[in-house]
Amino acid sequence: MAWKTLDDMDFAGKRALVRVDINVPVEDGVVTDTTRIERIIPTVDDIQEKGGKVILMAHFGRPKGQVVPEMSLEHIAPAVADVLGLPVTWVNSDYGDAVAEMEGDEVLLLENLRFNPGEEKNDAGFAKRLATLGDIYVNDAFSAAHRAHASTEAIARLLPACAGRLMAEELGALEKALGTPERPVVAVVGGAKVSTKLDLLGNLVGKVDHLVIGGGMANTFLAAQGIDVGKSLCEHDLAETAREILGKAETAGCEIILPRDIVVAREFKAGAESETLAPDACPADAMILDAGPATVAYINETLEGAKTLVWNGPLGAFEIEPFDAATNAAAAKAAELSKAGKLISVAGGGDTVAALNQAGAADDFTYISTAGGAFLEWMEGKELPGVAALG
Ligand code: ADP
Ligand code: MG
Repeated sequence: MAWKTLDDMDFAGKRALVRVDINVPVEDGVVTDTTRIERIIPTVDDIQEKGGKVILMAHFGRPKGQVVPEMSLEHIAPAVADVLGLPVTWVNSDYGDAVAEMEGDEVLLLENLRFNPGEEKNDAGFAKRLATLGDIYVNDAFSAAHRAHASTEAIARLLPACAGRLMAEELGALEKALGTPERPVVAVVGGAKVSTKLDLLGNLVGKVDHLVIGGGMANTFLAAQGIDVGKSLCEHDLAETAREILGKAETAGCEIILPRDIVVAREFKAGAESETLAPDACPADAMILDAGPATVAYINETLEGAKTLVWNGPLGAFEIEPFDAATNAAAAKAAELSKAGKLISVAGGGDTVAALNQAGAADDFTYISTAGGAFLEWMEGKELPGVAALG
């Protein structure tokens, strides 16, 4: 689908209402990680260079439509000013005259949108009130695009709307990975449970050429084929669903890659005694916690022959050594191929990003999405309301 970018708009003398994600971690009143603020710099700078004024709109935490003083964006404003290197004025929910009084390169930061119950209800009245504050709407919060809220959906229909730099970059990367990808495409899906990723698996089997299933969810697939997985994390009630996914893949000509060897242990703790076994050899009192070297070798061979990779979910219980081995090895291979320009690699998901960082591979991936839920819904093939409203 097509969406406008900052390049398609005339910002000269205009006020831009920019929806951003600055939901940063805060400990004892101090912002501990400013990454999310850093990522909005290109959009803010670009609008100002084009002669526009910037009014930032954001949420913080989950105040559920009520004023919760600890969640006021007033506390975040100094960090935003620091990172942007611009004067930032926080504006309370009355909005008042602040907009009319903006001066020079001053940036306004509106109070936490979720203090207003209309935000999460996608309320037309609240969207209208926001819309009166600006001339152009810019959405730079891909991570909030899977939710139809007043500041992500309704408002986009009231003003000329476009994607910010960060949003455009993210949409471009995702489009390249699953929209119109270079083939063959490999998807790696791992993590804890099949139940949280059913829609994702269902969508991918119809779109990719090879689907690696790893992590705890691989156990459910092994069990569905009649294999005893001992004490492993496994959703036995999803056996039928797992078989349906395998059937759908076969019809679609998608190769499913399941563990060819498994790493098992009796305890889930660092340095626990572990052994590598055939997939059907898990002892009754043991757990499968990672894929083995034969599996990794086959995954890496598949990556060598691929042009595009999408990855969500670690291949094993990566938080604890040595069960991070398969994830690390496959991540290193993907990073090496990406760096050499042979592979387009896109990854996302909270634990996935942590695992790829831990593996030292994240920097060489083509694109790492930090959008969490929005990234997963996109992998599920769903239309994101905040993106659709820009079209
Ligand atoms: P993401 O946040 O990237 O979407 P998930 O939350 O689905 O990923 O999965 C990550 C979790 O899956 C991690 O906590 C990891 O320990 C767990 N996991 C992976 N493999 C196994 C396994 N074999 N047994 C138990 N837990 C596993
Ligand atoms: Mg997770």
